[in-house]
Amino acid sequence: MRDYNERRQVLVTGGAGFLGSHLCERLLGEGHEVLCVDNFFTGSKRNVAHLLGHPRFELMRHDVVLPLQVEVDQIYNLACPASPPHYQHDPVQTTKTSVLGALHLLELARRTGARIFQASTSEVYGDPERHPQAEDYWGHVNPVGVRSCYDEGKRCAETLFMDYHRQHGVDVRIARIFNTYGPRMHPNDGRVVSNFIVQALRGEPLTVYGQGEQTRSFCYVDDLVEGFVRFMRRDAPCPGPINLGNPGEFTIAALAEQVINLTNSRSPIVHKPLPADDPTQRRPDIARAREKLGWEPTVQLREGLVRTIAYFDRLLKEGA
Ligand code: NAD
Ligand code: UDP
Repeated sequence: MRDYNERRQVLVTGGAGFLGSHLCERLLGEGHEVLCVDNFFTGSKRNVAHLLGHPRFELMRHDVVLPLQVEVDQIYNLACPASPPHYQHDPVQTTKTSVLGALHLLELARRTGARIFQASTSEVYGDPERHPQAEDYWGHVNPVGVRSCYDEGKRCAETLFMDYHRQHGVDVRIARIFNTYGPRMHPNDGRVVSNFIVQALRGEPLTVYGQGEQTRSFCYVDDLVEGFVRFMRRDAPCPGPINLGNPGEFTIAALAEQVINLTNSRSPIVHKPLPADDPTQRRPDIARAREKLGWEPTVQLREGLVRTIAYFDRLLKEGA
């Protein structure tokens, strides 16, 4: 059996994005060779600029919609735009990225014998009728709505992962990621944490969609990456899915208040229309992650926001 603590050739798709760049950094820190593959749709070289001279790091421009031939021991498949405005920009490409991307990378895993991780999402639960969401809940997803390119694309990718596991014996790991935030989120990404922080720092109104009564659970990026690595390190077969997220649940209105307080901003709050199919509540049940991975988040929302605000403050002062 392979020792997954040895140095490995690791492929990270979407490695120049927010989560991917933190993951590349962590894997290099553990002594692995990292091949970062990205088409730079939402990611950027800037996110991995500090890794470019590293002798064990390689960056490759490639679209996962096309097959990839490389030799690797581990694959983390993160390629896919994650913010609603980004994934709705070209919805057909979003579905292709999730479905064809999964297919090509699973074929690569089958050929090389690599263990493969899928960055799935809490969006597979849709607008959930069960609260909190555990992995045995099948979800409540609109298959024809504006979010379905992302939700259904990720659901189909999960199906492919499980079928490659059952049919071809591929060693798969499916993580369902709940809202995650931190440094290197794109400032114009459109997601709520980056929007609120950038608006507060600029003294612009914070845009709360609807009444702000909808809830989300926010996980700090370092906690999440720790969950990824533990999941991939586990040697016993463990396809998942496993929820990874912080069970602390907040209304969007409460998040806006907290960001205003932590930035000492005078920004007002304005209300904008609620986007179509916006889930009303979301909170992970992480019992499975605790049991199988011995994992739970350690960074509270306030602390994570302070670190993320410091990052955006620097970025805005640099003129980004
Ligand atoms: P991100 O947009 O910052 O990163 C996605 C990366 O994938 C970008 O670098 C982008 O350029 C790249 N990409 C997109 N399409 C591609 C393609 N066809 N070929 C190659 N590269 C492509 O988003 P993120 O927050 O870092 O999300 C990473 C992964 O985690 C995504 O799969 C996302 O669905 C999943 N996820 C994220 C969250 C979250 O809260 N951040 C929650 C659930 C799931
Ligand atoms: N949201 C908001 N203002 C914004 C951006 C988002 O009120 O400027 C809301 C959005 O409607 C949703 C929640 O915040 O209810 C989380 O949105 P995000 O896009 O970050 O993630 P997702 O909807 O994919 O969970």
